[in-house]
Amino acid sequence: MIDGRIIKALSGFFYVETEDENIYQCRGRGVFRNKKISPLVGDYVRFDKSNPNEGYIMEVKERENELIRPPVANIDQAIIVSSATEPDLNTILLDRFLVLIESKDIQPVIFITKMDTVSDGAIEKINNYKKDYQQMGYEVELLSSKEPSQLPDLGRYFTNNVTVIAGQSGVGKSSLLNALNPSLLLKTAEISKSLGRGKHTTRHVELVRVHSGYVADTPGFSSLDFSEIELEDLTDCFPEFRERKEDCKFRGCMHNKEPKCAIKQAVDKGEIASYRYEHYLSFYEEIQTRKPRY
Ligand code: GDP
Ligand code: ZN
Repeated sequence: MIDGRIIKALSGFFYVETEDENIYQCRGRGVFRNKKISPLVGDYVRFDKSNPNEGYIMEVKERENELIRPPVANIDQAIIVSSATEPDLNTILLDRFLVLIESKDIQPVIFITKMDTVSDGAIEKINNYKKDYQQMGYEVELLSSKEPSQLPDLGRYFTNNVTVIAGQSGVGKSSLLNALNPSLLLKTAEISKSLGRGKHTTRHVELVRVHSGYVADTPGFSSLDFSEIELEDLTDCFPEFRERKEDCKFRGCMHNKEPKCAIKQAVDKGEIASYRYEHYLSFYEEIQTRKPRY
């Protein structure tokens, strides 16, 4: 039996890469169909080699996490791409992505693109957001994909990681991927042209090499509703709330109407950004009433 990782799934085949960087075209054994476990891209598996380049997957190792769109398992981080302008940086949308990613136990990272389009007067605002989010514990990169040669050194984000890119349409996700790995150029163009947002897009998900790590070639978190998030889990999706939760007077405090709430006090003192707290309350209400707004 050989250990490997599925890096691509296509037409019933799973392409499994081994540590020595060989790729085997594998089929899942019937056992998976019976147990209703279907192997996912990103899965660590054991397979039986049947030919020099082929095999049968016998075992799928336990997953750290998994996404439905794109169907990828064991994701280390999600890069949320937001643009500084066109469209303008939208912190409620950014926070929505952050909550969705946190709720899946995936590490979020924030990339703000199109910095080349920001006027001198508007730079300070972006820098302040950068500071805010860094203070919450997130890594934030400001960049422009227009000139790939002038991209900051982003290698450390990708090395040894499996990354999913997230962000609203038009913020520059494909431009960034193409700048990072020009061999993808055709692929992303093809996908967006022939398949658009159709359901087929996700079927051909593939992990592609970027800086000796892997990036899913299909963006994730296209559905932004909170239907899978429980009300009591929301507070843990805000790291600056998470780290203070022991300080609230009531155990299980929802930081809403409770007295002596450490979160509300931190907002009053300016230690927690008030827009974050407002977004929290708005998401809270949305989950409570289960009416998606976007
Ligand atoms: P996606 O929908 O998130 O994949 O966004 P695209 O990569 O397709 O980019 C949307 C538009 O923004 C395109 O016209 C890109 O040329 C442009 N764009 C992307 N990144 C940048 C950037 O860093 N600077 C500038 N000026 N334009 C950009
Ligand atoms: Zn509280």
